[in-house]
Amino acid sequence: MKLSDRLSILNGIGEVQAKKFEGLGIKTLADLINYYPRKYDDYSHVVKIKDLRPGPVSLKVNIKNITARYARGRGLHITEAIASDNSGSVRVVWFNQPYRAKYFKSGQIYFLSGKYELKNNHFTITNPTVEVVSDLPTNTARILAVYPETKGLDSSQIRKAMAQTLPVMNTIPESLPDFTIKDQKLLNRSQSIRALHMPTSTEELDEAKRRLGFEEVFEFSLASLLNKQDNQTETALSIEFKQELARQFAESLPFKLTDSQRIAVWKIYQDMQKPVPMNRLVEGDVGSGKTVVAVMAALMVMADHKQVALMAPTEILARQHAVTIYALLQPLGLENKLTLLVGSLTKQQKTSAYKAIREGKATFIIGTHALIQEDLDMHNLALVIVDEQHRFGVNQRLTLAAKAGHTPHILSLSATPIPRSLALTLYGELDITRLDEKPAGRSDVITQIVYSSGVKDLYVKIDKEIDSGRQVFIVCPAINQSDLIQVKSSKEVFDSFSSGVFKHRKVDLLHGQMKSDLKQAVMESFIAGKIDILVATTVIEVGVDIPNASIMVVMSPERFGLAQLHQLRGRIGRGSHQGYFYMLLDNSEAPMRRLRALERYSDGFKLAELDLEFRGPGAIYGTYQHGALDLRIANLTDKKLINAAVSAAQQFIERQEQLSKYAILSRKINKLRTVTNLN
Ligand code: ADP
Ligand code: MG
Repeated sequence: MKLSDRLSILNGIGEVQAKKFEGLGIKTLADLINYYPRKYDDYSHVVKIKDLRPGPVSLKVNIKNITARYARGRGLHITEAIASDNSGSVRVVWFNQPYRAKYFKSGQIYFLSGKYELKNNHFTITNPTVEVVSDLPTNTARILAVYPETKGLDSSQIRKAMAQTLPVMNTIPESLPDFTIKDQKLLNRSQSIRALHMPTSTEELDEAKRRLGFEEVFEFSLASLLNKQDNQTETALSIEFKQELARQFAESLPFKLTDSQRIAVWKIYQDMQKPVPMNRLVEGDVGSGKTVVAVMAALMVMADHKQVALMAPTEILARQHAVTIYALLQPLGLENKLTLLVGSLTKQQKTSAYKAIREGKATFIIGTHALIQEDLDMHNLALVIVDEQHRFGVNQRLTLAAKAGHTPHILSLSATPIPRSLALTLYGELDITRLDEKPAGRSDVITQIVYSSGVKDLYVKIDKEIDSGRQVFIVCPAINQSDLIQVKSSKEVFDSFSSGVFKHRKVDLLHGQMKSDLKQAVMESFIAGKIDILVATTVIEVGVDIPNASIMVVMSPERFGLAQLHQLRGRIGRGSHQGYFYMLLDNSEAPMRRLRALERYSDGFKLAELDLEFRGPGAIYGTYQHGALDLRIANLTDKKLINAAVSAAQQFIERQEQLSKYAILSRKINKLRTVTNLN
């Protein structure tokens, strides 16, 4: 038996079963071993029948008086039996398992595990698992792993297959360096995997999870650190720091920089003076003033006669940036150095932009991500600024480096705060600066959960805001009605608003399945104030600036994650008007912790930490736009574990360990190094 064997070599797995396993992505023994339990049921304590208490129980019993019948009215096969030990007996029932009737031999002792509960006035054990007594039971009298199941394939069948892989599990080689295992007193890999599927005690299970969680974080962290190390061996254009220019710019602003903006700018200047590429992430809530920081970075590059490119995720955002940045550069007479390069330019505009860039007349180029694919002469490109959402991956950096002959400094701006433990694990290759201060005079968006009973008042409020010239966002989670869950779709809401309560207003619709030029047209007419109420899906999530929008109503807010709701909230209250954020819940739905957290906190960093706490162990952080982060065991709220694993990864590098000496680890790390950078 070996890891690459097909599942069908196991007993009891024919073609039909194998297909079902395939449905879960399991084809080989390795896939099976890699299929992790979702939770555990503790059936390890075998009790006497006289001591039975309602709940999950395990017994050691004879099984007698077996009867089987078909209850036509209920369409059920019912198999009943009496289970007894020397202290008493109890009734056992199985539904739709007619084969049970022939299974039992008299005189045989069985382990029986199931739920003891009151059914039709009788205490009964319903649908228990049963096995002949042994030292190593699979489906009874132990801590039982519960797996994600599928139709016709339940956890007891998965456990039966899993138990047969024991011989290969026992040969799984170690992947962690010796020193980590010794320092942290970790179980070895093979023991841990076995214990994860077939724990012999809760202590053993905890140790197995600690080991496997450590491994996950160690690997992510090591991959990040190695990326960082590589980055340090590349060369960048060093940028001279001109203090007078920075001072002049700061004085031209209509406001005072916050301390955190000042610190961020200072760090960036220090980074860029070195001939080593900067790779810095500035994170700060929406409105924390990232644009000014970026422009100050760009300023030094322009003054040094080199080029800077700012990449935004959408054309609308690129255009908005161009307008804002033009105004910021004007007092210094640098606005003519700016050029916008987006898909919708005419051929003529494009040609002249290219010319300006080539001749060095334009040194600040603003566009979308497509910028780096353009056939542009970027040999003088010293700094790339990436706005919102996407990290700039190694691959993109290499594309540019290949073009320019050097690696640009990278400054990423993000409004999605990353909890510290996550940043440590995953973003190890980045230097992170937080803008954790709100610019003065900014008031919090008023945030409230509204029940359907309060909808009328809400509509009145919306009308009032529109009367005083404001605009409104209505956000819906899905575009069409789902069969399973009644979710108010954007189309439905749009129809009912535009022909009902708000038929006297200009209502429009924006969703992801619209053609992109239509989307852009709708967005632009909203920006221009031609629409009162915009019903939209989360396509509006990314950094659009509509200072005149003061109210946002989120339908079915329970369908959104905390980070996402916070992002949405950031779209409003950006002007001088008070912002309102309403989460509309049906009366029947209990408000969840995360909605309450939003009512209570406006600080994105605080909310990010809470989000992590609420999701608990094993959460997959899709919200961080990071498909690669698949921590299946590690709990990122376990600070001790995270710190130990991260510092072990640092030690690995400090000790100048050769990754190539660790065959398995190096394979895993190399895979992570490419995916963690493909964003
Ligand atoms: P972000 O990109 O971080 O969401 P912006 O850079 O768009 O935020 O800034 C939001 C608004 O705050 C802009 O109108 C900007 O001019 C203003 N702003 C930036 N820094 C300050 C500051 N220190 N004091 C007051 N207003 C500021
Ligand atoms: Mg911004």
